[in-house]
Amino acid sequence: MSSNSSHRAESGDWCVYKFGGSSVGTPGRLPRVLSLISEARGPLAVVVSALGDTTDWLISAANAAARGDAAGSSAELTRVRSLAKTIASTVLEGAVLTAHEKTVEQLLAPIERLLTGVELTRECTPATLDEVLSVGERISSELVARALTARGIPALAVDARTFLVTDETAGSARVDIEASRARLTPLIPGWAGKVPVITGFIARSHQGRTTTLGRNGSDYTATLLSWLLGARQVTVWTDVPGVMTADPALVSDAYPVPRMTYAEALELAHFGTRMFHPRTMIPLLESGAALHIRGTTEPDAPGTRIDAEGNPDPHRPTSVTSLERLALLHVESLRPTLSEPLGPRVLQALEAARITVWGGTLSALAPSISLVVRQEEAQRAHAVLEAALRGECERREVRVPPPHAPVTLVTLVAESMGHRPNVAGRFFHALGNVGVNVRAILQGASSRSVSCAVDAEDTAVAVRTVHSAFNLNETEINVLLVGKGTVGGRLLAQLEENAKTLRARHGISLRLVALVDSRRALFEPRGVPPAEAHARLAEVSPSTVSPPDVRPLLDRLSRLSVPVLVDCTAADGMETLYAEAIRRGIHVVGANKKPLARPWKEYEGLHSLTRAHFRTWHYETTVGASLPVIETLKNLVRTGDRVERIEGCFSGSLGAICHALMKGLPLSQAVRTARANGYTEPHPRDDLSGLDVARKALILARELGLELELEDVAVEPLVPPEHLREEDPETFLRTLGSLDAEVSAQVARYREAGRSLRYLAQILPNAPGGPRVKVGPVAVDASHPATGLKGAEAMVSFFTERYREFPLIVRGAGAGGDVTAAGVLADILRLAQNVRGRR
Ligand code: ASP
Ligand code: MG
Repeated sequence: MSSNSSHRAESGDWCVYKFGGSSVGTPGRLPRVLSLISEARGPLAVVVSALGDTTDWLISAANAAARGDAAGSSAELTRVRSLAKTIASTVLEGAVLTAHEKTVEQLLAPIERLLTGVELTRECTPATLDEVLSVGERISSELVARALTARGIPALAVDARTFLVTDETAGSARVDIEASRARLTPLIPGWAGKVPVITGFIARSHQGRTTTLGRNGSDYTATLLSWLLGARQVTVWTDVPGVMTADPALVSDAYPVPRMTYAEALELAHFGTRMFHPRTMIPLLESGAALHIRGTTEPDAPGTRIDAEGNPDPHRPTSVTSLERLALLHVESLRPTLSEPLGPRVLQALEAARITVWGGTLSALAPSISLVVRQEEAQRAHAVLEAALRGECERREVRVPPPHAPVTLVTLVAESMGHRPNVAGRFFHALGNVGVNVRAILQGASSRSVSCAVDAEDTAVAVRTVHSAFNLNETEINVLLVGKGTVGGRLLAQLEENAKTLRARHGISLRLVALVDSRRALFEPRGVPPAEAHARLAEVSPSTVSPPDVRPLLDRLSRLSVPVLVDCTAADGMETLYAEAIRRGIHVVGANKKPLARPWKEYEGLHSLTRAHFRTWHYETTVGASLPVIETLKNLVRTGDRVERIEGCFSGSLGAICHALMKGLPLSQAVRTARANGYTEPHPRDDLSGLDVARKALILARELGLELELEDVAVEPLVPPEHLREEDPETFLRTLGSLDAEVSAQVARYREAGRSLRYLAQILPNAPGGPRVKVGPVAVDASHPATGLKGAEAMVSFFTERYREFPLIVRGAGAGGDVTAAGVLADILRLAQNVRGRR
């Protein structure tokens, strides 16, 4: 590569590369940086930041010194020194390394002396701090230049203080572009044949003092340099693959935006994207050079191009940003007209107190005003406003309530706002849909963005919701599945079979991200192919506790779009997990009846939790597998019908057993077959005892609003209770044989009398002595609708005011892995309908 570096500085078309602190200061990344530089074509100037967190450590060193803490100060400096050493040793060796270490010591020595001075005087002026900070970038440029030279790419460390001229403002100096150009021009010939490696962030004032351009100022150095050199392109190499559609820490589906305008980037910088130093765009607006943001670790990804034109695609993605730790202040006018408009006075008072206003609703005509300020300035701002409006407050014309904190400013930056309808509508609709309370709608400075203040705790949900409403073509549903038995296993198969069609026909992408059983937990944020899930889970080492602690998984799940916890177990205690999930904004789909049969208080508590968090808990499969029993009942209740009686055979398993008995099979045989077909609960005792049917009856009764407990259900088991004590299912099935003869004789008597054995449930909400629910075996006559049921068929009849003469009957297969799993899947898909708004 040294071959083309010889003409680098001569040919006119400069390129500028900037590498941030993490690109140069993370062990192992520097070689990447070096090869990116060596692969560049044409004349190239490189700007570097300080290694890693060096600047932060130097600030801490200065602060410690100013407190008189010499040990603390030198400890911070030791971190700077040792990172410099570590990184150098990854790219240099032998004599070159020794020479470099000497240079580092020479750079640090005066800084150490300066810090001693600070420690003695107990004062670190902003000017002194700038001097201290400057060493970070100087170490970095020396290192990169040496490492390039050592690889045969001639390079030169350049201290930007030799040409960047600023005013005297320490900490955030203003650049004098003409003076800088005058100093730079004579230097350029000296760069011929070499790659100049220039310090970011630092400069020198007219009076010769070291200054800095503000935190993250190296980007600004890079764009300034491009302007001075007349470069067409600046590439900022960073640790993300471009400007993202949202903060990836909040939204795992965030992706890089391919193109955007300077104006959009400015808006993003203002509203929270930490990616840009606020002044980075200024030189670009002047020169028209394009800014590329690219990932050092993903150099082949296209990254983001920022220029005057932006993205011509009308359906281009948009970015959502959040600015946290803010507070909302209100000035409420209590009189319709005030002698003098409040807006200008409020702003002037805050400006005089040097309080930054991040946004607000400042209409000249509106009587009240809302303002967003930094949280740490909120109390002061409040006091300033009270003082400025004292007269009005005393006359009770104006009220300044205490600040509302903390809030987050969520902003959608969409250049397309003016060209497409309903951008703001969709923004607020999406937020409202998930229950995010919009505290204030802020009047943006432009038509490019829409923003609002939300409660700090809603930050993640708000950002994620807006992001998926605008940037995802498909509704993506992320599933954490607990239980992989009969139902869970069939659900995995159905997820696999249906994925393609769901995506192609319905725009729904169903992702299985986690699978949990009683001993293991697997989490794959990118999704596990359902067919492989079993095998993958088996590879996970078992947890020390059973069941494994799923809460950390819920935390991760809650960061994905439309997260849902799917419970395909029949386990006890799952209600605790449901509550943890709902509190994290996760929906629940359960085939498990037990959480619905908990004491009323808990049951109601869980339901109100879902309402408070605007989440759903679907459990259609808890009664009659996927038969639409609960949905039908809900609709009857919703539409004002009065339910007089619900009756039926709720259990496919008991149905199958009764049917087999009627056909002459012995009891133990009938139960075994039902179990082998996947119709029974894991322990068939739960079916034979009537407990399972009792739970179903209770679920339906509660759906009617009846505050009943499981104990209120009168249960008569199918077999006498003394036979139901055995804990082990296998032993249980064996001992059941002792009942065979007795049961068969009984069944034979029914048959002779023209009757059939059925296990019936009955709910009478308006019974004279109060609501009654009972379940038990009944010998029904031939005219009873339950007589015709075969196999695992279930049936529920609703007798209501509207359906009095002819009940509304839901009937069909009421047990089995496949139908239950299908019902669970249907419940999951219902979520997609709810979250989908108009595009
Ligand atoms: N090193 C400086 C900072 O950390 C400048 C930069 O990284 O761009 O703020
Ligand atoms: Mg930095």
